[in-house]
Amino acid sequence: MRRKKHRPIFVRNCDYCGTQLQTNEPNSDSYVITAEHKIFCKIHYVGEPPIKDCLEDYIRSKKNVRNETKKINEIQHQEKKEISKKEKEKVLKKIDDYLFELKQKQRRQRAAKFQTETYSESKSTI
Ligand SMILES: [Zn+2]
Repeated sequence: MRRKKHRPIFVRNCDYCGTQLQTNEPNSDSYVITAEHKIFCKIHYVGEPPIKDCLEDYIRSKKNVRNETKKINEIQHQEKKEISKKEKEKVLKKIDDYLFELKQKQRRQRAAKFQTETYSESKSTI
């Protein structure tokens, strides 16, 4: 018995909602393909507003994402400014601390020198 030859079914998922779309359906207009080869469901009857228009939704969501990333970038930029200011203060404080440490060290070294001198002196006297 001859096997029935199956017509290959090309299935792609909608790039917006993930619905399976048969792209080789004859007279099927339930999807649209963009110039970027993205596929979206589009269920639309003449004279009626589209029931489903994933391309439209996709474009809208993309715009929102772009706006949000812009906002995030602005926030990050502001944060960077604040951080750099804080970093500057930190560095300045570090320099102050370092200078303070250095002075303390010098004082301690002098004191230590003095102490060892007095110690060695006192030792020599013994
Ligand atoms: Zn869809």
